[in-house]
Amino acid sequence: MHHYLQSHPPHLHISIQPSVMAGGSLAAAQVAAMVRAAEAGAEARRAARGASRAVIERNTLRHAYAPAPHRADDKCTICLSVFELASDCRRLPCMHLFHMECVDQWLSTNKHCPICRVDIETHLNKDATF
Ligand SMILES: [Zn+2]
Ligand SMILES: [Zn+2]
Repeated sequence: MHHYLQSHPPHLHISIQPSVMAGGSLAAAQVAAMVRAAEAGAEARRAARGASRAVIERNTLRHAYAPAPHRADDKCTICLSVFELASDCRRLPCMHLFHMECVDQWLSTNKHCPICRVDIETHLNKDATF
């Protein structure tokens, strides 16, 4: 049997520094809270959460529908019906337009645009003109 020269493993300097020296129980509680927050975050990413009424109102524009000649907004992609003149609509930050009752129902369980999946709380285009 040949014995190969074993190369020295690189010296690993692993220094574990206790980040919180004082208050052991508090640190443990903080760690537990962080773990819970991380788990909650992962959970939230798995199951997209809905938006509250206030979040919807703050991030969308509610208006009565008026046909805009240069836009292809004439159909609500949630209920697939055509917007009727002066019906209550809601425009999301991504500029997509839906019936207010359709999108409110959608956003209560999922705060992402049904078309482009942009989070309504994400303002990519803060100075977009409505
Ligand atoms: Zn609709
Ligand atoms: Zn959209």
